[in-house]
Amino acid sequence: MKKVLVLGAGQLARMMDFVGSPLGMDVKAFDVRTNEVVHPISPEYKYGSLVNGIAEADVITAEFEHVAHDILALCEASGKLKPNSQAIKIGGDRRLEKNLLESCSVANAKYFIIENKDDFEQALTEIDLPIIFKSALEGYDGKGQWRMKSADQADAIWQDMSAFIATATSSVPQGIVAEQMVPFDREISLVGARNTLGEIAVYPLTENHHTNGVLSVSVAAPSNEKLQNQASEAFKKLTEKLDYVGVLAIEFFQVGEELLVNEIAPRVHNSGHWTQQGADTCQFENHLRAICGLPLGSTALVRPTAMVNILGENTIPNEVLAIPSLTVHWYNKEKRAGRKMGHLNVSGNSEVELANRLAQLANLLDNESFPDLVDFSTKYLDKVK
Ligand code: AMP
Repeated sequence: MKKVLVLGAGQLARMMDFVGSPLGMDVKAFDVRTNEVVHPISPEYKYGSLVNGIAEADVITAEFEHVAHDILALCEASGKLKPNSQAIKIGGDRRLEKNLLESCSVANAKYFIIENKDDFEQALTEIDLPIIFKSALEGYDGKGQWRMKSADQADAIWQDMSAFIATATSSVPQGIVAEQMVPFDREISLVGARNTLGEIAVYPLTENHHTNGVLSVSVAAPSNEKLQNQASEAFKKLTEKLDYVGVLAIEFFQVGEELLVNEIAPRVHNSGHWTQQGADTCQFENHLRAICGLPLGSTALVRPTAMVNILGENTIPNEVLAIPSLTVHWYNKEKRAGRKMGHLNVSGNSEVELANRLAQLANLLDNESFPDLVDFSTKYLDKVK
């Protein structure tokens, strides 16, 4: 039985365990908050220290990119860490991410790196307004970001941003990436896997919608071949450059027929949760297969599928489960405003059927907790019918 240790004990480790068990794998999770190795589904079962966990594991992986560098070094030294620490660090530092994109000639938004006030002023001369400033470290789901539409916001933004830089707690110096705001048509992502033999399998492109900077809905349907090829090419270049092993997600802005990379996540990704129901093999299984040296499973779309995040809510009406081809996935987390508490996967035999089921779902769910779902499902139905 292969023993897998996941750095991080959240919902992603939990969903890996759900598919690891039938594959004959024993998945354990390292909780970075308590410094203990725990059972990913029942964390009250504890298995001791990280050092023991590393010694017992055959393979070590991560479910998030903000793992402390000393922990990554310890895991890497064991020779069991997949993907490698360089790849994990790139996902946690936007400066490294931009360097990687440049070195692979993968298109992305124009940017300038800021470490002090002089850099900030230079960024304003190099990049046209509007600009989005993003913290290099610890920024995700829209946190640590400032948007500048007019020059008169400069002082206020710099004050706020310099205070943010000063409070950084990481051992790596904090910085800011100033980025040109892209007038995108839509946001899409590509999730794919590369295994230890260098074999690659990618899923169909997923269209993503955000509410207050957090992913709320992802839809996977047969996609435009040209865009799919462009995204697959970027996936191949980036994963080969990193000698990457595991699942990796790339988020893109689509501008006309061109894709610009927004960010990459060196792990299974929220925009790939639909694969649990809509693909031949889900992203969690393909991640485990990839890191354990197994052949990858088919990533083919079985039928159009959407994923709806449950944010800040720990109940939904029972009637939701009467919708055909719908499953609910709770993460067993304590309720907190805006927190990712679970998700719903919904499929249809056609996009029209999927859109109708999403409309049915939107009508049953509380509008306050799912503010954009009615609007999204209405527009989606209009588009596909
Ligand atoms: P991020 O944390 O980089 O994913 O940014 C959060 C959200 O801000 C993205 O999902 C976009 O909706 C928006 N955003 C980020 N960067 C840009 C950009 N360069 N141009 C336009 N919108 C952006």
